[in-house]
Amino acid sequence: MHIVPQLINGEFVHSANQDFISVTNPANNEEIAKLPVSTEQEIEQAVQAAKEAFKTWRKVPISERARVMLRYQHLLKENHDEIATILAKETGKTFDDAKGDVWRGIEVVEQAANVASLMMGETVENVATNIDTYSMIQPLGVCLGITPFNFPAMIPLWMFPMAVACGNTFVLKPSEQDPNTPMKLAELFIQAGAPKGVLNVVHGRGDQVNYLLQHDDIKAVSFVGSVPVGQHIYRTATQNMKRAQCFAGAKNHSVIMPDANKEQVLNNLVGASVGAAGQRCMAISVAVFVGDSQNWIDELAEKIGRVTPGLWDDKQAGFGPLISPQAKARVLSLIEQGKQEGAKILVDGSHFTVEGYEQGNWIGPTVFTDVTADMEIYKQEIFGPVLCCVQVPTLADAIEFVNNNPYGNGTSIFTASGAAAHTYQNEVEVGQVGINVPIPVPLPFFSFTGWKNSFYGDLHAYGKQAIRFYTETKTITARWFDDETVSTPNMTINLR
Ligand code: NAD
Repeated sequence: MHIVPQLINGEFVHSANQDFISVTNPANNEEIAKLPVSTEQEIEQAVQAAKEAFKTWRKVPISERARVMLRYQHLLKENHDEIATILAKETGKTFDDAKGDVWRGIEVVEQAANVASLMMGETVENVATNIDTYSMIQPLGVCLGITPFNFPAMIPLWMFPMAVACGNTFVLKPSEQDPNTPMKLAELFIQAGAPKGVLNVVHGRGDQVNYLLQHDDIKAVSFVGSVPVGQHIYRTATQNMKRAQCFAGAKNHSVIMPDANKEQVLNNLVGASVGAAGQRCMAISVAVFVGDSQNWIDELAEKIGRVTPGLWDDKQAGFGPLISPQAKARVLSLIEQGKQEGAKILVDGSHFTVEGYEQGNWIGPTVFTDVTADMEIYKQEIFGPVLCCVQVPTLADAIEFVNNNPYGNGTSIFTASGAAAHTYQNEVEVGQVGINVPIPVPLPFFSFTGWKNSFYGDLHAYGKQAIRFYTETKTITARWFDDETVSTPNMTINLR
């Protein structure tokens, strides 16, 4: 059985700990690897390796740091299929979806290769006679990343390439549910030329993360995951005086106006709701039908009902299994609760299975209608292939409904009306808005900008703003000449 190593000071080393977490194939729950929980001593070694490496890495010329990123994006592209295969096998994602996960990460590495232009400071000359002020952007030190299971390539790649390109060093604690993908990313990073200690990877869960959050040598913490864990990490990191950015859960609404292009709406909503088994922080989990567009709900349900889950290498599969039996049990209990609370179920995926893989974490596509804001299926992030349909009379009602939701990750509106789209983009309290686009994830030359309970922190550091998160600004005011030798201009300024 494969035992997942750690990466400490440039070496892939096995943990001394015999306490293993089982990494399983979600399609049948058979064990595919054993993941040791890193010991305190090993975590300490990783932090000290990063601290030591920072002393020299920050001095490596910025163009050389950028070149490591150029080599890295090239290696990621060369190994795209292999990484996606590892990823698909441990997450259950379809191969195409797995390739997309890796690709979104590659785009961030491409952005990290532009680090020099992103790290430029500012200069104003003559703030006083012969005195100039300029600013420079400097790295922080050792940064920490804690990542979720649902994008095991993209999300680690949101973090360490940007942090490292800025001159920081990094400790990554990936999800314990699919660690083989981040380990492959780490292997390629070393191959790309990252010196020892610049990236370290340790494993574990709450205890290991808590140890790191209290460590004096960790300067900044990036987290992506669920709301309760995100709140805990934000509180603990900031209590320990660390910079923190925590991307958390979501409940994303799509508003459908009656003037929208019906075919476009229905086709887009199918993939956006049940694609990736709904295990996406930008999945559309609520469709808000305005006025007569509610007449399309039955047809939408029929289209969604035709999507069939399957194995990662089944080209016909619309999506794969859920990540774990616990995730499946949670989604099933929410579906049951939805039925009991009076929502009308149009498609019920509770009993779906794949022949020969009956032990897998399968749930078929599921659609509820007549959902109201007080129901648990509306209040909770289901994180499964379940769409809740809601009916409201007007656009104003739709905006009020969406804004009353405590999450604010993504939303979209489908309409032919520029006025409706403009009103929606201005008034909706959500960070990422799609107009006739179902899942509006920005490319990394913008930033990922969740609001409300979808993000805790002040810098939405993915992409462009990552430079601000992973650096400090130093402002220098310099007198260049001795006043005795250089004369002050003698000029009268008429203020009128
Ligand atoms: P999770 O919160 O269970 O785990 C995330 C990470 O936190 C893992 O590395 C895990 O080991 C660690 N962790 C778990 N319990 C901990 C504890 N008590 N203390 C410290 N660390 C702990 O999340 P998940 O189930 O892996 O991922 C799914 C969640 O992530 C969903 O809620 C989804 O919306 C969210 N997500 C958000 C975004 C975003 O950009 N906002 C992106 C992807 C996923």
